[in-house]
Amino acid sequence: VVQAAQRAASRSTKEWQDADSKHFFHPFTDHGGLAKKGARIITRAENIYIWDSEGHKILDGMSGLWCVNTGYGQQALVDAAAKQMKELPFYNAFFQTSTPPAIELAELLAEVTPPQFKHVFFTSSGSEGNDTVVRMVRRYWDIKGQPERKTIIGRINGYHGSTMAGASLGGMSGMHAQGGLPIPDIVHIQQPHWFELGQGMSREAFGLKAAGWLEEKILEVGPERVAAFIGEPVQGAGGVIVPPSTYWPEIQRICDKYGILLVSDEVICGFGRTGNWFGCETMGTRPDLMTFAKGVTSGYVPLGGVMVGERVAQALIDDGGEFNHGFTYSGHPVACAVALANIKLIQQLNLVSHVKNNIGPYLAERFAELNDHPLVGETQTCGMMGAVQLVKAKPGTTFASELEVGMVCRAHCFGNGLIMRAVGDRMIVAPPLVMTRPQIDEMMVLIRRCLDLTLAEVRERGWL
Ligand code: PMP
Repeated sequence: VVQAAQRAASRSTKEWQDADSKHFFHPFTDHGGLAKKGARIITRAENIYIWDSEGHKILDGMSGLWCVNTGYGQQALVDAAAKQMKELPFYNAFFQTSTPPAIELAELLAEVTPPQFKHVFFTSSGSEGNDTVVRMVRRYWDIKGQPERKTIIGRINGYHGSTMAGASLGGMSGMHAQGGLPIPDIVHIQQPHWFELGQGMSREAFGLKAAGWLEEKILEVGPERVAAFIGEPVQGAGGVIVPPSTYWPEIQRICDKYGILLVSDEVICGFGRTGNWFGCETMGTRPDLMTFAKGVTSGYVPLGGVMVGERVAQALIDDGGEFNHGFTYSGHPVACAVALANIKLIQQLNLVSHVKNNIGPYLAERFAELNDHPLVGETQTCGMMGAVQLVKAKPGTTFASELEVGMVCRAHCFGNGLIMRAVGDRMIVAPPLVMTRPQIDEMMVLIRRCLDLTLAEVRERGWL
């Protein structure tokens, strides 16, 4: 803490901001706009709180970026990194070599993931994981003698990363518009977003209808040309969109019917976030491949990967020969050592059952109470993810999108010591899994205060 304070104080906030805007291109940022305002400088963190360079304490309702599952300040993770850095800071896994942390992590992942997963391919991020998925899925069908099966189906408003393949699998129109995406043979269907697309139907009936869009797309492309379907169990960056309970089982049935590989992108939903180890367990699917990142190390160091189900693994092992794919940091020993310590900590703290049986249901109960607020049209939670849909009038009349009411609310959150993200007018949280009930209460006080302040501002501006 002392060191962090000294470092932060070595320059004023203004000096940090000036140097930042001179040299640092941030992800997904309008740099002209940021230069005028100056970035918020975060200098330290503990448990579920972060501090900025002005000394403000902020409750981190987003776990950094959906990743700090075990919370900040976990000494076991720091020690694991330091020990591994001293012993063997790096060695690669090319050329028939391996390292103890990578082997032990592969073993532990096989233990905590569903039974069809016995093998893992390591990357450094979720995006690289999904690039690996594209290459592996297409390689699988080549090995199987069906090279025409190339098309991968994703979803509009899905998020699978920012590399060429990741952004192509995702269905973010703003990303596709920059850089000529998607790459060939990646197509999209509509998302299972009841609030936007299903009002007037029961959620269950809408779930079946939304899954039916997959079958329609398969028939349109031609079943013999479809390689895989990819989706997030709960769409995260798209706005914490929890699909109806009927959706995923029907998706599984359709994938089985046409022999298509099912890919579960667990970059956000993995490692306890939804109240099971993986989101596919919560949703009732049996994926062939599973992308992970973020929560595997609680974000302390970069690590991602793909869990490879037996169907694909056996084809690669028995008939595949060399798979011409890999990264310098595939199986990075320090990242793997931190992941090992992190997963063991999740086990020791019983975090998965803490989410499933304690704080997850409590978050759901407290979020449901927000429905009495005039601005709230819908709330949804799944484990430790929550969404509050802001509306102009109940049940579902939305504000004009150019008013950016979500951004108004987000500004009040920042101003009141809460990180809550806005996706359009959907306000979302995904706090650390170590959160306690009193801390949820503390967050709910802030959320309600920010909704009240937003309501007052919206009225003042004459938007209601
Ligand atoms: N998939 C999902 C579901 C994600 O939420 C993200 C990141 N938010 C990614 C992939 C990409 O991961 P990364 O940013 O580590 O490349």
